[in-house]
Amino acid sequence: MSRFPGVDYLEFDSLLSEDERLVRDTVREFVDDMVKPIIEECHREGRTPLELVPRMAELDLFGATIDEYGLPGLGNVAYGLIMQELERGDSGLRSFVSVQSALVMYPIHTFGSQAQRDRWIPALAAGEAIGCFGLTEPDFGSNPGGMRTTARRDGAEWVLNGAKQWITNGSLADVAVVWAKTPDGVRGFLVEKGTPGFTASDQHGKFSLRASTTSELGFVNCRIPADAMLPETVGLKNALMCLNQARYGIAWGGLGAAMECYHTALEYAKERIQFSGQPIACHQLVQDKLVWMISEITKGQLLALQLGRLKDAGKVKHFHISMGKRNNVWVARECAKLAREILGANGIVDDYPVIRHMLNLESVYTYEGTHDIHALVIGERVTGIPAFNAPERPVKAARAQPVEA
Ligand SMILES: Cc1cc2nc3c(=O)[nH]c(=O)nc-3n(C[C@H](O)[C@H](O)[C@H](O)COP(=O)(O)OP(=O)(O)OC[C@H]3O[C@@H](n4cnc5c(N)ncnc54)[C@H](O)[C@@H]3O)c2cc1C
Repeated sequence: MSRFPGVDYLEFDSLLSEDERLVRDTVREFVDDMVKPIIEECHREGRTPLELVPRMAELDLFGATIDEYGLPGLGNVAYGLIMQELERGDSGLRSFVSVQSALVMYPIHTFGSQAQRDRWIPALAAGEAIGCFGLTEPDFGSNPGGMRTTARRDGAEWVLNGAKQWITNGSLADVAVVWAKTPDGVRGFLVEKGTPGFTASDQHGKFSLRASTTSELGFVNCRIPADAMLPETVGLKNALMCLNQARYGIAWGGLGAAMECYHTALEYAKERIQFSGQPIACHQLVQDKLVWMISEITKGQLLALQLGRLKDAGKVKHFHISMGKRNNVWVARECAKLAREILGANGIVDDYPVIRHMLNLESVYTYEGTHDIHALVIGERVTGIPAFNAPERPVKAARAQPVEA
């Protein structure tokens, strides 16, 4: 298997510290040696590569920014580079690590009690426990504030009722971070696998993120102890804080998928011969596609790096992260399409990683805030006008009008 040389048009590496490069190169090697040889098969079979979990734990890829419990307390750029390299392998694998780190370990570490932290952070870091994050519901995706899942206090217990959908790692998880409405507002709860009244069943028929498990969670009079609530959660904003962590990582992750597609297309174009014995890379139309890809990847790298530096300085805002997630995942999606074109018929088979990335990126474009929802976040920032709710209009105007001949 050939080694990935990286994509660095503008001496981007010179902007990284030695430690950041070392972290990236370590994960790069892991992806080349352990992920790439098995990932197409996992995608075909529709299974999460759980055999990689122990090695990822050894490499401290779970909760890498936490600086307690023997974890490395990495800076945000190093963390982003981990996400980049993992997603170069597969968006599903990056999703696994994003969920474990940003959506499970982060809320337990930030909003949990000492007892919750002591119980779960070491186990999640070691990969001995797997976590999931349940926010989305069948009827509430972009607008999680409408959620119907409730938590009612009954003596020394909470009673959960409701459903969560599209939950990464749902049926694999030993612990689910579940967001539910209480009479005092939205709170986060830890629900353990096997709790009576709690079920998890997998979503089948996915054409995207096939190397990742996606599940529906059900809660029917599910009783959990009073101390299963994350005590420092005060509202939906805590769930959104978790999403900010994950979306930041996705801004880097998208670059990884884009780089893999670009690199594959470049190598292919230099070797594929058509017309008068020349490689297809000698045609201006093919070069134009490669130039678009490397230009956008390079701009995306600078955007992600600045987000990371702002995050390390405690200055990053959610609307900054929206731009990173929105732009870089869009770039990746476009790169995958262009790479697929360059590969011709070979672009539709899994002998090459491009079609898998192209399909995966449809999920990444939609989850963690859709492309358009992030446009609204940025739009609100620049205009001062929130445009999430459609303007009010009379009921009559909403009715379909007959089309006149
Ligand atoms: C593979 C996968 C894994 C996932 N993992 C998780 C997970 O682990 N945990 C979790 O909680 N969720 C998860 N999700 C759910 C994901 O976050 C949601 O799918 C996402 O928030 C979008 O919600 P929706 O699918 O209900 O789309 P909708 O909200 O119904 O949106 C449908 C379309 O309408 C557009 N739209 C909606 N509102 C507006 C508006 N106001 N203005 C303009 N356009 C609008 C959207 O942009 C989109 O194009 C996952 C999803 C997928 C596909």
